[in-house]
Amino acid sequence: MFSYRHAFHAGNHADVLKHMVLLALLKHMTLKETPFTVLDTHAGAGLYRLDGDYAQTSAEASQGFLKLAQTSPAQPWAPLVQDYLDMVAGFNAVGQWKIYPGSPFICQQPLRGRDKLKLFELHPTDSKTLTANVAQLEVGRQVAIAREDGFEAVKKFLPPPSRRALLLCDPSYEIKSDYGRVAAMVADAMTRFATGSYMVWYPIIPRPEAHDLPRKLRTLANKAGKSWLDISLTVKSSKLLQDDAGETVRPGLPASGVFLINPPFTLKAQLALALPQLVQTLKQDTHARHTLESGG
Ligand code: SAM
Repeated sequence: MFSYRHAFHAGNHADVLKHMVLLALLKHMTLKETPFTVLDTHAGAGLYRLDGDYAQTSAEASQGFLKLAQTSPAQPWAPLVQDYLDMVAGFNAVGQWKIYPGSPFICQQPLRGRDKLKLFELHPTDSKTLTANVAQLEVGRQVAIAREDGFEAVKKFLPPPSRRALLLCDPSYEIKSDYGRVAAMVADAMTRFATGSYMVWYPIIPRPEAHDLPRKLRTLANKAGKSWLDISLTVKSSKLLQDDAGETVRPGLPASGVFLINPPFTLKAQLALALPQLVQTLKQDTHARHTLESGG
């Protein structure tokens, strides 16, 4: 348990998809005056160095965020892509890409004084790093951090006092049971707070539980009579590879998805402009594609 450290993966293609969508949801939340709460069930360390040891070990950002940032597109970037690039640029000196913000910092940035952010992170080291990183923001009680199981702990905050909230659920899925726990948590949350905005990240890998999760979430949303969006980005084939010594090698994460319940109704059209640009820029082979499905 707990071998997953997000620092190895920060800024990869999955982060690009997830954080671009997350930013779009947050911007939408700030359109109304009423305060809102953001709940991040699996927060990670908050900030990552793109030039640090962890990042160098896997260099996943060079195939993800850094590739995007260093590309001059044939057409101007779609607004969602541009917003995302501008947001990450805000954490870096001009022309440098050293820092990559995780979901806690992406969520905190657009908050107004009256909005709240609740972060849950169970890993002892990441939770300590997160606490130290957030302390530098000097935002006092606006951001609360708990070293607790996010799946369970989130329940006590639903529904929030202002009846407006965005819940991000972004586990590492290093334990097989995470898939079932995500579906159970969303089902429970929907009974407590059916009008909330929900965002679940999931990996697209050849594993039955991974395959089932977006289908379960669609069923949950449909049964509750809520609208949903299911978005995916594939950058390469999921086929096993052989190295020079003839050993079978896993290809690394080939694709991921984001499932939203109660999304802004304008988001699908915005994504339809942004996703082809992500595919074009981040593709690693001819299997690269996106999907964008909605219902409810
Ligand atoms: N949301 C982060 C971001 O976008 O920057 C990345 C999160 S990472 C994919 C998943 C995190 O969940 C890891 O840091 C892991 O230690 C933590 N974790 C694993 N199980 C947990 C649980 N039950 N409750 C809270 N955190 C957990």
